[in-house]
Amino acid sequence: MKVAGLKCRICGKEFPPEPIYTCDNCFGPLEVQYDWEWIKEHVSRDKIEKGPKSLWRYRDFLPIDACEPVDLGAGYTRFIKADNLGEVLGLKNLFLIDDSVNPTYSFKDRVVSVAVTKAKEFRMKAVGCASTGNLAGSLAAHAAKAKLPAYIFVPKGIEKNKITQALVHGANVIEVDGTYDDANRIATEVAEEHPDWGFVNINLRPYYAEGSKTLAYEAAERLGWTLPDQVVVPMASGALLCAIYRGFRDLERTGLVEDKEVVFNGSQPYGLPISKAVKYGTSVEPVRRMDTIVHSLAIGNPADGIFAKEIIEKTDGFAEDPKDDETVEALKLLAKTEGIFTELAGGVTIAGLRRLVEEGRIDRSDVVVAYLTGNGLKTAEAVVSNLNDTIKIRPRLEEFEEVVA
Ligand SMILES: [Zn+2]
Repeated sequence: MKVAGLKCRICGKEFPPEPIYTCDNCFGPLEVQYDWEWIKEHVSRDKIEKGPKSLWRYRDFLPIDACEPVDLGAGYTRFIKADNLGEVLGLKNLFLIDDSVNPTYSFKDRVVSVAVTKAKEFRMKAVGCASTGNLAGSLAAHAAKAKLPAYIFVPKGIEKNKITQALVHGANVIEVDGTYDDANRIATEVAEEHPDWGFVNINLRPYYAEGSKTLAYEAAERLGWTLPDQVVVPMASGALLCAIYRGFRDLERTGLVEDKEVVFNGSQPYGLPISKAVKYGTSVEPVRRMDTIVHSLAIGNPADGIFAKEIIEKTDGFAEDPKDDETVEALKLLAKTEGIFTELAGGVTIAGLRRLVEEGRIDRSDVVVAYLTGNGLKTAEAVVSNLNDTIKIRPRLEEFEEVVA
């Protein structure tokens, strides 16, 4: 068996590979442990390159033992050498991983595909989550494919267009009379009450988080099995940055790439805890007030905050905290230079990257990989007011010629 067990990330206590997520000793989060001898025997560059064109080409590194993947084709998304954007920012080797083109249009498809597959392996009867955004849509789609009922908890008064994706796939969307935190709390209680239901970011969280490691494998494979000099990652809970770090380590320990110290940089909207702690050298303190239009990154109490900060610091990276107007400008710059329309979180990545280059933290010739996590149509309403108006004419050729002259 490839999955050896789970281990507490704080005190190190070990647990069997079951649907559990908190340490009974210190309440710390748990992490999947693997049998590395098994993985070294099974994995190879050649086998990966002949695998499916989805994240399941990296199956030997994922926490699934026997089950057939629930695969909508997530992962192995566009890998773009962004020469136009690079020219504007002053970078010669800028690469983008574009997860706006995943099956449900965000990187969440990677983690959900792994978590729902794990739910099937555990022979669970249903899956669920609390979410108002990308996670809800992705979970509903994968549950449909897996033929499992899905329960999605949302706060009161949510606009129907935010949950259209979840509803169309047939998920049970439960509107809780309260805030998002209330919805999340109920979801946690339901997960406790129904141990044979898999809540992807609650009792399946250790397995779920592993799906994001594929963002590291892809960068290395697409760079001809080498590691980049620097990465720029958007941060909400910080879990994504930590997973990409583990992914590069996996490749090194199995000899698929040569060891290299990759510099990890994070980007988070202004005022949020992880970037604040890195910038000012303080500890990661929760914040209550979150004044940003980038809702998908607005987590006031980031579960992986201390771990993300530690990785950034030990790799000599940095964390940036762009303001919302910089984020929208960066999103538009990316769209105009590379033809990619990303959601606001992607704008935070590019705005952060821009600052890092301007501050001299990234050299012109560095090989940089920046992560774009979702599709622009998901947050289009936030950009509309920042766009040029249409050019109005009457249906006469001379009027057209006049306005373009
Ligand atoms: Zn512990």
